[in-house]
This record gives sequence, C-alpha cells and structure tokens, in this order.
Amino acid sequence: RASRAFHPADTVVDVKGIKIGGKKLVVMAGPCSIETPEQIGGIAKAVKASGAAILRGGAFKPRTSPYSFQGLGEKGLDLLISAAHKENMPVVTELMSADKIGMFLEKGVDIIQIGARNMQNFDLLKAVGRLNVPVLLKRGMSATIEEWLMSAEYIMSEGNHNVILCERGIRTFEKATRNTLDLSAVEVVKERSHLPIIVDPSHATGHREMVPAMAMAAIAAGADGIMCEVHNDPEHAWCDGAESITPETFDDLMGRLKQLAPIVGRE
Ligand code: PEP
Ligand code: MN
Repeated sequence: RASRAFHPADTVVDVKGIKIGGKKLVVMAGPCSIETPEQIGGIAKAVKASGAAILRGGAFKPRTSPYSFQGLGEKGLDLLISAAHKENMPVVTELMSADKIGMFLEKGVDIIQIGARNMQNFDLLKAVGRLNVPVLLKRGMSATIEEWLMSAEYIMSEGNHNVILCERGIRTFEKATRNTLDLSAVEVVKERSHLPIIVDPSHATGHREMVPAMAMAAIAAGADGIMCEVHNDPEHAWCDGAESITPETFDDLMGRLKQLAPIVGRE
C-alpha cells in the first residue's frame, strides 16, 4: 500500500485543512519537550507568527536514560493542546505505548508521532493503523529505507493510509553530528512511495548551528516539509537544548526557506 507501483499519485495528508505533501511546504515546530504553560505558550505564539503550520512538543519522551526527564505526560499533553488551541494550530506529539491511545484520542491529538525508537514496534504500528488519525512515522536510527517503508506498510495494512514519513538521521561512524542526515532518502522514498516525507534537521544533527543549513538542503532535495525543535531558552531546555534553535533563528530560517518554495502559513 505504501508503494508507488500500486498508487502512482502522491498522497496528500490533510490535517485540519493543512495539506502535507501538497504544493506547499509544511513546517512543524516547537520544543523537544513541553515544560511549562509559559514555555509552550510563548513558543507556540512565536513559531505560528513565523509561519509554522503545526505545533510539535513531547509529553511522553523516549529518553536514553531512565534518570533523564521523561516528559510531563498527560499534563504536558494538556499544556500542548491548550497552547495550540490558542494559536489555532494542529499538534503532533509522540505516542510511546498503545495504552495511551485512548488519552490521545480524547485530548484530540491531530498527528500521532511514532518515534525512531519505536519504528519497528509492530504492535504499536498496528494499533495506530486502526485509528483514523494521521501518523508521523520517524525513521529508525538503524533502519534501512526498505524497513522504514515496511513499517509504514504495517500501519496502512490495518486501514490507516494517512502516513507521513520523517527522515531524522541514521547512525554511522561519524561523531561530528548526533546522527547522519540521509538526504538521499528523500529521493529514494519519492521514487518508491507516494507518501509525503519531511525532514527533522534537529535530531539529525544534534547541533543548532547546523539546523538551518540542513533544513534548506532538505527542501532543495525535495522534502515536503520540516520538523524542527525551537526553544525560547535553549541553554536551559529540559531536553535537547543543544539542537534547539531560538524563535529568532527560526524566523530567519523560515524567510530563507520561503525563497525555495511557498510555505503553508507563511504568506
Ligand atoms: C522527537 O522528535 O521528539 C524524537 C524523540 O525524535 P526521534 O524519535 O527521531 O529521536
Ligand atoms: Mn528532541
């Protein structure tokens, strides 16, 4: 079902009227983790003003260490949704476990993110495949493109065809970046699949200085949009501050992206 061979036309995923995979770029932005009402409210307002169409923010965080901040959980979800309502933006947030699906549906999460670490959690994929909510499927950090598309297939085989792919870098021997952004994946996916694909330059690089250049490169390579971490005070962010750009840098980046292609929400 994910294959271009059986479905030649590009799939466009519609999220409250925002078309992902359409003619315009879609930018999803927000903090790695939701921290406080002021933090998420301020960032939402800023990224919306710069032309982000969708608000991102983690409430349930897949952290490498069990002693690191794990996210605010349900309270974080509430803060995210209320900040998004205020700015009239849909939200994308990560689901780590099927037992939270009821909560996500009740609160009205617009796009369910499946993180890199769960890309091959097949029961979770099948569970979101039974929903009528778009899914953002991030590439596993050691997954081939074929494996990634097979994970999309798991979701689609259960009936949910609203899948958006997200390249977020893969593990290589290179240590200068957190991961190695595989930009050729954009073209490979476009050849093999009809699904929209966006790029996350934040987790791909791990360094905020590199985010604008890789965002620009992703769009030049043909991606349908970007997902980017933005924080009002990156030095004190509770998670992934090193790769988070400020709202000012984000605004500058959006101005540059717009010179490459039209962006939903940044007229
Ligand atoms: C995220 O986007 O919040 C995240 C944890 O990313 P990834 O799953 O790509 O590591
Ligand atoms: Mn992060």
